[in-house]
Amino acid sequence: MGEKITMSPGGGLVVPTDPVIPFIEGDGTGVDIWPAARRVLDAAAAKHGHRIEWMEVLAGEKAFRETGNWLPTETVEVFREYLVGIKGPLTTPVGGGFRSLNVALRQVLDLYVCLRPVRWFAGVPSPVKRPELVDMVIFRENTEDIYAGLEVQEGTPEAKRLIGLLHDELGWEIRPDSGVGIKPISVTGSKRLIRAAVAYAVERGRKSVTLVHKGNIQKYTEGAFRQWGYELVREELSEVAVGWDDCGGDPGPRVLVKDVIADIALQQVLTRPSEFDVIATTNLNGDYLSDALAAQVGGIGIAPGANINYTTGHGIFEATHGTAPRYAGQDKVNPGSVLLSGVLMFEHLGWREAAADIVRALETTIAERIVTYDFARQMEGATEVKTSEFASAVVDRL
Ligand code: NAP
Repeated sequence: MGEKITMSPGGGLVVPTDPVIPFIEGDGTGVDIWPAARRVLDAAAAKHGHRIEWMEVLAGEKAFRETGNWLPTETVEVFREYLVGIKGPLTTPVGGGFRSLNVALRQVLDLYVCLRPVRWFAGVPSPVKRPELVDMVIFRENTEDIYAGLEVQEGTPEAKRLIGLLHDELGWEIRPDSGVGIKPISVTGSKRLIRAAVAYAVERGRKSVTLVHKGNIQKYTEGAFRQWGYELVREELSEVAVGWDDCGGDPGPRVLVKDVIADIALQQVLTRPSEFDVIATTNLNGDYLSDALAAQVGGIGIAPGANINYTTGHGIFEATHGTAPRYAGQDKVNPGSVLLSGVLMFEHLGWREAAADIVRALETTIAERIVTYDFARQMEGATEVKTSEFASAVVDRL
């Protein structure tokens, strides 16, 4: 019997050597990639004296088949109680009142950071000339912005009422045939996100945190995000970080906090990738940036992700791709995304050596051109292997 991960009163996770970790296998190719990733995670954990007691919880198609519910309340409660969990991809049924599991879990557990590290693995086919220069970690705000779902549909009484109210109270002229969405950006949401990004940079010896925003146009939301970021650094974090204007771009041993407008950021991550390290950004910008960056290193199929609340310790680690249903059950697709999400989870647990071992073994496997079909089709001289064989190759190299 494993033990529960808990939060210490002073903050920080208390992780037993045999933690219980809930997992959702995932729909579609989840049946292929989850067991493969789990085998690697177990082997790496064992090498360092840990043992994970996996606890399956249901969501998606499997949950619907067995319980008639796409997201049983029990699943959310288990994640709440056990703090840290991992999931494969889930089908989002089209139409109907279903809200995605991710959104539900993010909201219920207030997982305010969407963490997306982006790096290149030598040998992975990439569309750019110097993919090795990309080594960035995106902190995307996960709970507010235009994503908060505050929208009214064109033509509805709600839309008419809101448009009328905005006209009467604020003198705003909005075309009557508009749908309207609200974009809240708060001091609370911005500061806790940027605080987490700076803490990460300090802990990992990263050099800078870039605030990516569209503040030249959206002054009181995106612009305020930038302003609150610099304020936070000055008022709370000045021992470990310094804003560009307060040091003339020379931070000394501290973490440099700078900012760039989102459209220019999308150019510069391509043209000057080495100038970016940790990135802290609002929800929608973060969505665009993480996919653009993952593509830059050829990593769409292996990009990992996590949703974290650093205050409560809750973290849900997940494959970022979908269920790829046409490959389901074929033992064919790349387990890299869910495996690297497991690496992020190990780092969150403080299992740094086990995490680093997996990364090294993965690097070696790919460098030896032992890869699944997605990489093999773009690599010369590759040995194409099945999902399970890829996992075995990584385990052999741990
Ligand atoms: P998808 O499942 O990500 O698949 C799109 C393509 O990406 C696949 O055809 C395949 O490309 C490639 N791919 C995906 N996973 C791969 C892997 N593990 N290894 C190698 N290649 C991989 O996107 P979709 O077809 O648009 O969505 C299918 C379902 O997934 C939908 O129900 C959607 O709602 C859901 N979804 C879930 C999540 C999530 O749970 N996080 C995220 C996105 C989508 P090739 O065919 O070119 O090889």
